[in-house]
Amino acid sequence: MAEPPRARSLLAQVFGFSEFRPGQEDIVSAVTAGRNTLAIMPTGGGKSLCYQLPALCRPGVTVVISPLIALMRDQVRALRAVGVEAGALTSGNTEAETEEVFRALDEGRLKLLYMAPERLAAGGTAAMLRRIGTTMIAVDEAHCVSQWGHDFRPDYLRIGDLRRALDVPLAAFTATADAETQAEIVTRLFDGQPPETFLRGFDRPNIHLAFAPKDKPRDQILAFAARRRGLSGIVYCATRAKTETLAQALREAGHPACAYHGGLDADERRHVEMRFQQEDGLIVVATVAFGMGIDKPDIRWVAHADLPKSIEGYYQEIGRAGRDGAPAETLTLYGADDIRLRRAQIDESLAPPERKAADHGRLNALLGLAEAVGCRRQSLLRYFGEDPGPCGNCDLCDRPAEVFDATEAVRKALSAILRTGEWFGAGHLIDILTGNATARVRERGHDQLPTFAVGRELTKPVWSAVFRQMMGHDLIRPDPERHGALRMTDAARPILRGEQPIRLRRDVLDARARPAVKAM
Ligand code: ADP
Ligand code: ZN
Repeated sequence: MAEPPRARSLLAQVFGFSEFRPGQEDIVSAVTAGRNTLAIMPTGGGKSLCYQLPALCRPGVTVVISPLIALMRDQVRALRAVGVEAGALTSGNTEAETEEVFRALDEGRLKLLYMAPERLAAGGTAAMLRRIGTTMIAVDEAHCVSQWGHDFRPDYLRIGDLRRALDVPLAAFTATADAETQAEIVTRLFDGQPPETFLRGFDRPNIHLAFAPKDKPRDQILAFAARRRGLSGIVYCATRAKTETLAQALREAGHPACAYHGGLDADERRHVEMRFQQEDGLIVVATVAFGMGIDKPDIRWVAHADLPKSIEGYYQEIGRAGRDGAPAETLTLYGADDIRLRRAQIDESLAPPERKAADHGRLNALLGLAEAVGCRRQSLLRYFGEDPGPCGNCDLCDRPAEVFDATEAVRKALSAILRTGEWFGAGHLIDILTGNATARVRERGHDQLPTFAVGRELTKPVWSAVFRQMMGHDLIRPDPERHGALRMTDAARPILRGEQPIRLRRDVLDARARPAVKAM
């Protein structure tokens, strides 16, 4: 089911997220449509958005019942910061705050009213909520209604009465998934009438996960497609131009393939969508514009020719494969250029600083996944709040990564960066480290530095991998104001000071470089 376009544009404009998290989209649709819902999502999965966003799409006021005053205040503050009219009625309010909430309610400005459950015990609350035009009730931490749970809050038992009194839809959220708690929630909050229930872990166990550093990326994609000839697949690219050239290359290799991006006119796009839906074995080479409305259950593979922009985007895009539950495969390519590009996109956006920081964080999470040393699915699902064991269906479960103690190499790299004033890119720094006295190195006197040639034991490709992984671990960042010169981040300080070791992956390194690494 596609979410209303309004929800997606609010997702971006108000909350600053480019993709829904797993499960959010369907829950948002149900809640916005005014159906009673029960959503069970792991902590950190993004429950609040599932009632905040519908609240903005619906007329009237959404009342949010939440047990933690501090959390309510945080949420209200965060909502106000992005321009959403929200207020809280809690025992922690000052008189002025409460007055302000009522003023906003009277003026019909408020969209979300947070309320502690204790408030339900006070007489007149239901009448007040009716008067202010409440059109939905959202219940956070709905398991607090369970008398057997350790979070039991007696006042939660009044929520059922409130729902009956107001006769509005209710959306209940919890991270506690056991069947008993669920049943109790249905009895007490929904009078035993089963609501639409969303209980979906984030795992898509039939999708094989794999990442590879770029090394002649076009050949890598062609090889991946060649092994899946005749199977429908999607290749995601970062730019429109690349979708065209890669589609061309695939056609030359004998695959039916077409490009898809926002620059095509609506007819052309519809034509590709239709062909993809109807034909077997078509490859669509696309920007992220492709996929939203696609409901094809038997997409057998998804490849990323470039690194996606966040872990959410990655999950969403690979999630288009294997909806029928049959095995599907994915491959995500990434390189130092991708990292630079994505960082630059974030830095150059007009978003406020906190949002940029959050975007860097989401990119870091994806890079952590790319350079993971253990099961990829574990890293992915942990990010979304689940904690499974190793999956047996990812490249790192198939073949564990070899890691090596890279502490010395990283310290040498950091020292080269610092001694050159954080004004250079990886190429020049690697020349210094490997003792390659290029004209540029000599001109700057960098062949006189104590760091000159201290990294001779590693080859150039190994150093490239080390620098890329350092970017992946967010130890260094390109500075857009210095033409992408690498600068050290705070995360690197403990390593530089020798307080913290770091291990990097060896098996992603160029084959030619292996002997050099083994000699360390
Ligand atoms: P929960 O209540 O399920 O524990 P939250 O609602 O607090 O989780 O959300 C957890 C984090 O996920 C928050 O930092 C939130 O900003 C972030 N988040 C929620 N939805 C998205 C999304 N679609 N894309 C990126 N981040 C999101
Ligand atoms: Zn695994």
